[in-house]
Amino acid sequence: MKIHEFQARQLLAQAGVAVPAFAVAEDVATAVAEAKKLFDAGHKEIVIKAQVHAGGRGKAGFVKLVSSLKDAEAAATFMLTNKMVSYQTGPEGLVVRKLLIAAAEQIAKEYYLAITIDRARRTATLIASAEGGVEIEVVAEKNPAAIVKVPLHPLLGLQAFQARELAFRLGFKGKQVGQAVDIMMKVAKVFRDTDASLVEINPLVVTPADEKNPDGRVLALDAKFQFDDNALFRHPDLEKMFDPTEENPAEIRAHEFGLSYVALDGNIGCLVNGAGLAMATMDIVKLHGGEPANFLDVGGSASEEAVTEAFRIILSDPSVKGILVNIFGGIMQCDKIARAIVTSAKNVGFKVPLVVRLEGTNVAAARQILADAQKEIPAMQPATDLTDAATRIVEAVRKAG
Ligand code: GDP
Ligand code: MG
Repeated sequence: MKIHEFQARQLLAQAGVAVPAFAVAEDVATAVAEAKKLFDAGHKEIVIKAQVHAGGRGKAGFVKLVSSLKDAEAAATFMLTNKMVSYQTGPEGLVVRKLLIAAAEQIAKEYYLAITIDRARRTATLIASAEGGVEIEVVAEKNPAAIVKVPLHPLLGLQAFQARELAFRLGFKGKQVGQAVDIMMKVAKVFRDTDASLVEINPLVVTPADEKNPDGRVLALDAKFQFDDNALFRHPDLEKMFDPTEENPAEIRAHEFGLSYVALDGNIGCLVNGAGLAMATMDIVKLHGGEPANFLDVGGSASEEAVTEAFRIILSDPSVKGILVNIFGGIMQCDKIARAIVTSAKNVGFKVPLVVRLEGTNVAAARQILADAQKEIPAMQPATDLTDAATRIVEAVRKAG
């Protein structure tokens, strides 16, 4: 599960990490009112940031520094009426529904700080760089030596000596060192306490020196969290942060029916049972020159209703030009799938070609059901095996297109 930056800032602030004060607005009037409060409090410059579950906002023009109410209004209006397109969103972009309004901080230097799971090492790993602010992917490619990785002990977590060593390595000076260490230790703790799979602060900044802070202050100006869905039941407070408007509606509906569904860019809808078979099906569709429109695993023991819903979800995607059903009945009974196909044909209707490959438990009964219904479902054709199925659906979609 992903959350918004403003929620991530709340979590960091609760953990004791220094985060500039902020407000959230869902319309221009509120954004302007919040900006006015900050200007009235003496801040010369404020920052307005789109709250969406994607990064790259700065470059996309969805993080704006403003120093007048007029500019604040223009920035808020722009963000709430334009879709944000960044390297993380895909060309269709994202609708912005919320804005974060905060006092802008001056930046002397930007750093990168994150903790995530290193699967190869099977540990949480702290990743840091003195080249923060920009896309870390670019740093990783052009100057990998500038990225430092510190594996965390599974029981002890980040240890103070590791954080100190890292702070010096990153080039923090004087009083910055203690602040950076403090932030790293707190971030590591909140990562563990929330069962996060990612926490990322980019940029972590040092502000310019002033009278009170001769070495500047170390602050988190951006924050991102992702949580392990399987651990969410332990964190009802985090579950409440879920924002359904940021998710693909079809994926949410699928989730409610216990289906694993991921929308993709192609035009061949796939209905499969088992994640492994679903992956293999997508591979073979591609091998035969097709492009899958989705990953869909109905699971081992889905009900007829869930399978019918799966068809409804696939068919509601306008880019779907054909459907491939690939079921290996183990626990799943093939006749259940066959009945769901007949029901879906009645309730939803198959206007696009449908190729069905069934094998396993109750397959004879299933084939009979489909043979009996063939006349009512002219778009349907049976397949003998996976290669036959893939060839048929790719061919049928090509012909129809
Ligand atoms: P992202 O592009 O989605 O990662 O959004 P960020 O929150 O990281 O903002 C992008 C960039 O805007 C940062 O790297 C900073 O350079 C700049 N920025 C964000 N907040 C502030 C701020 O308070 N003051 C200043 N001077 N720059 C900021
Ligand atoms: Mg950032």
